[in-house]
Formats: sequence, structure tokens, C-alpha cells
Amino acid sequence: LPTEFVAATPILETIEAAGYEAYFVGGSVRDTLLGLPIHDVDIATSAYPQEVKQLFKKTVDTGIEHGTVMILDHGTGYETTTFRTETGYQDYRRPDSVTFVRSLREDLKRRDFTINALAMTHDGEIIDYFNGLGDLKAKRIKAVGNPEERFHEDALRTMRAIRFASQLDFTIDPQTVAAIQHHGNLLTKIAVERIHVEFVKLFLGKHPANGLTTFVETGLYQYCPGLATAREALAQLISALQHGLSSETTVWTLIASAVGLTNRQVGSFLKQWKSANQLISDVAAAVRFLEALQAGEVTNWVLYQAGAAHIKTAAEVANILQIDTPSLSQLLDQYETLTIKSKQDLAISGQDLIKAGVAPGPKLGQLLTKLEREVVAGTLDNDLGQLLNQALKD
Ligand code: ATP
Ligand code: MG
Repeated sequence: LPTEFVAATPILETIEAAGYEAYFVGGSVRDTLLGLPIHDVDIATSAYPQEVKQLFKKTVDTGIEHGTVMILDHGTGYETTTFRTETGYQDYRRPDSVTFVRSLREDLKRRDFTINALAMTHDGEIIDYFNGLGDLKAKRIKAVGNPEERFHEDALRTMRAIRFASQLDFTIDPQTVAAIQHHGNLLTKIAVERIHVEFVKLFLGKHPANGLTTFVETGLYQYCPGLATAREALAQLISALQHGLSSETTVWTLIASAVGLTNRQVGSFLKQWKSANQLISDVAAAVRFLEALQAGEVTNWVLYQAGAAHIKTAAEVANILQIDTPSLSQLLDQYETLTIKSKQDLAISGQDLIKAGVAPGPKLGQLLTKLEREVVAGTLDNDLGQLLNQALKD
């Protein structure tokens, strides 16, 4: 057993010693069986949250109304969730109520895919009620139970299906694909933030083309912000994407470019996706640099404004979209020749200008920018004396 499970074994034993059942469940079991590294070990138990809390010194109520208590052990947190069923789903996103149950089978039955519905004892014995092992072997994403019902009760699962297909390089079972097609429209009921998370994981996964194919063919894309008319652009990405992307910024730079957005349109597109402001400005900068690349206008100033990170992002996207540009190493070589890399590197500051008698105000800012541009262009040396001379001449 991987060390993460060995470390968590005393927790299972403590719960069992009190007369309850406890198992490892979810992604960590799946990933171990696939020989993949695991992130967090999740535990499911027949003990109710209050019962769990009585057994351990340090716990945190991370989601106690849904049955989840985090057990803290030697600095590691273990999300421990009481076996439960979910009923209702009136709004197609959250169950109206969760009911705690004492049966593992009932708990596994409410899980999304068979490969995510495996449990493991602390001895490493696998409990498999829904042929999750068979589907792991066949590299198949298959809904637990009736796929039509499962996507109807929670449409986020449609996005989860395609992201697992990408991350694991699996195919989605045909009946599951059909149900995704039938219930994709319910995605409009799901919080955009949650769709966003799955969408990004899809592109960062091992084989995005896998999930993307289903995303396009089932029409799921239509129910995602700003993508209603993107079928053609997304379909072209399927053959262009040979492997996962390197960062979230790259994901959105690729999407924005593929659907033909200008750098000025990036903000409103990404706001629909509820993106953070930092991401928006990064993507806008990368798209702006990509536009300069396409226009063949890569001056020192353009490189300077982009910075190394956005140059790399744009080059990765240009490569996928087969935009004819200088290679990344050529671009970075040219970037390395810049005398300064940021305003902080400029040998003159606003304070220097004020000391030399320039009045504070917008004019001073413009003067500084002019000096910055000249230093970047190489027409002035980055030297305080020379820059002051030039500034006072203007
Ligand atoms: P990851 O490696 O991305 O964390 P994971 O399988 O652990 O993958 P989580 O989102 O952490 O995914 O969820 C943990 C488990 O909870 C899943 O394996 C699955 O059994 C169950 N689960 C999560 N989301 C849903 C959902 N929307 N519907 C049904 N079951 C779900
Ligand atoms: Mg997980």
C-alpha cells in the first residue's frame, strides 16, 4: 500500500475499534489501482459525524451538515464522511437533503462513476459493487446505475465525465455519452465556478482530445459561457491537442485565441466564467502578445511588456494553433537581450525627476514612460546621468 494509506491506517483502526466501519474511498483508491500518485486520502464511515468527533482529539467541521469531518493527525487532514444517500435534487445541483446511512453499498451507489465508487479496507482489500475494477481495466468512464437519472440529478457530472476521460486517458461508455447529450442543457443550472474547475482540469489532463471530443459531439459546449457558437473552433482543437497544457493561463489563452477573441474581449469572456482578475490580466497579456506575433510586430517593447511568462504561454498556444512564429527559444533569446526587464530596473525614478525640479503629476509619469521606452528600444543607456539629461532636455 502507498505510504499515504499506511499513515492513515490507524484512523480506520480507531473507528473500527469503536464498532463502526471505515474505508478508503474515491479518487485515492482509483489512482492507486492505476499506479498514479495520490493527493488526498478520503475516508467513508458508518459512524455519524458526532461519533467520529468523539473518537479523535483534533477534528474540524469542514462540512458537518453533509457528514464530513476532517480528522487532523500528525499534520495531515483526513476528510471523513459518513455513509450517506442523497435525495431530491430539485434544483439539479445539490441534493435537497442528505440522509446518513449505515451501509457502504448505499454510499457507493450515489457516487458518479464506477471507477470512483470503489472502497478499500486498511488491508488493501477492494470492495467493488459496481464493476469499477472491470471499468478501470477497460479504461472506461461509466455512470453508476442509470446514467440518464444520474446526469439528470446532477449535471456537473457531465463535465466530470469528460475531465476524467482526459485526465486518465479513458473512453466514456456509449450509454453514458448518450445521457450526457440528453442532460447537458441542465449545466446552465450549475454554478459557473464549478464548471470552470472541471473545464480547466480537462485541458490540463493527459489527453484533452478525449474529453473534448465528447464535449463537442454531445453539444455540452453550448451550455458553457461564451462557447455557444464555438463548435468549429473546438472541433479543430481536438486534432491539434496532442497532450495536456502546462497552465491555467495557457488553457484560457488557447480558448480565447481559438474562438477568435481579441485581447480586449478577453475580460468580458472570462468574467462570464467568473475568473479571478489576475487570470484575466495574464490571459489578456498573452493574447496581446500572440496578436503581435501574428502581425509580425515583435519589437523589444512588445517583448518587454509581455514578459517571459506570457511569451512562453503565447508560444505554447501558437504551436498548437500552428501559427507561424519564431521559435520560443528565438523569442526568449531576444527577450534576454533587453537592458531592463521591468520598471524597477530603470536607473531613474519619479523621485529622481522631482529632485531635479520636475513637478509631480501626470506629465512626470509620461516622461518616465518615454525614458523607459527608449531604454528598452536601446536608444538610451540605462544610466541615471544620461536619463536625467534627456529628461530635462524634453
Ligand atoms: P480528484 O483526483 O480530482 O480529486 P476525485 O475522484 O477524488 O478526483 P473529488 O471531486 O475529490 O474527485 O470527489 C471525491 C469522490 O466523491 C469521487 O471519487 C466520487 O466518488 C464522489 N463525487 C464527487 N463529486 C461527485 C458528484 N458530483 N456526483 C457523485 N459523486 C461525486
Ligand atoms: Mg479528490
